Amino acid sequence: MTWFQETLYDHWRQSFRVTREVTRVRGPMQEIAVFETPGFGRVLTLDGVIQVTTGDEFIYHEMLAHVPIYAHGAVRSACVVGGGDGGMLREILKHRSIERAVLVEIDGAVVDFCRQHLPSVSAGAFDDPRTRIVIADGIKYMAETTERFDLIVVDSTDPIGPGEVLFTESFYQDCARCLTAEGIVVNQNGVPFLQGAEVTDTWRRRRPHFADLGYYLAAVPTYVGGFMALGWAAASPRPRAESLETIRARFRAAPVPARYYTPDVHKAAFALPPYIQGLIGNETEA
Ligand code: SAM
Repeated sequence: MTWFQETLYDHWRQSFRVTREVTRVRGPMQEIAVFETPGFGRVLTLDGVIQVTTGDEFIYHEMLAHVPIYAHGAVRSACVVGGGDGGMLREILKHRSIERAVLVEIDGAVVDFCRQHLPSVSAGAFDDPRTRIVIADGIKYMAETTERFDLIVVDSTDPIGPGEVLFTESFYQDCARCLTAEGIVVNQNGVPFLQGAEVTDTWRRRRPHFADLGYYLAAVPTYVGGFMALGWAAASPRPRAESLETIRARFRAAPVPARYYTPDVHKAAFALPPYIQGLIGNETEA
């Protein structure tokens, strides 16, 4: 019997029983592997760290895409930084209001690899006429682009290796510059129980550059350790404050098929337990 053991933490590990290793390549940036498991379907790893499983990716992708889109109410342009598996694009493109979506991925090998070995994750999103794929470092792209976006989703690896720059103050500052008047940035901000410093540091680095900051939560089984924190930084306080009635009305008017997201889950996700709230002080109550 073969097991894969994730190497993210040095004091705690999760393992998957592997029924078949589909393929493994050393790309220019990182080692990319896909294997099959009995409980989670196909699993993508980069340098030994789980990125996506076909079993539970819907939770992560739905919450990072639909929460800001329904909160904003009129998202037409979106940029995904990272996200080379295509799952975030797939969820964003479910919204008919989206006119253009730019994917900025540092490693073209991830896109090619996922297109071939995890086609259900992108589900045609790479070939959607609204999609443009840019192979570049997200920090460089955001510093240089003249484009403006209603939504930026930072779908990055953890802050180790190439993903580290996507957690710096200068990157957040450039994201703020690239937003439209009521634009929103969301990102994966780690699992607070195990990666609490990420929550505190991101908060501090963003505070000078955005009118509204927050965190919301999702429980993703393979991002082990309890709730995952999803970061929220916006040019206006309006979208995060929208009422449940408004979010419900928007969802009714332009529904998307979803298995985790609902307007009620959307609003509830901003409630933070004290052990997470305490990482950012008390100034931030949603
Ligand atoms: N959902 C995943 C998670 O939280 O583990 C993230 C998935 S997605 C595959 C992460 C992507 O970010 C990878 O394909 C990686 O190549 C890309 N990435 C890492 N650093 C980057 C950077 N500086 N600029 C653009 N993309 C980057």
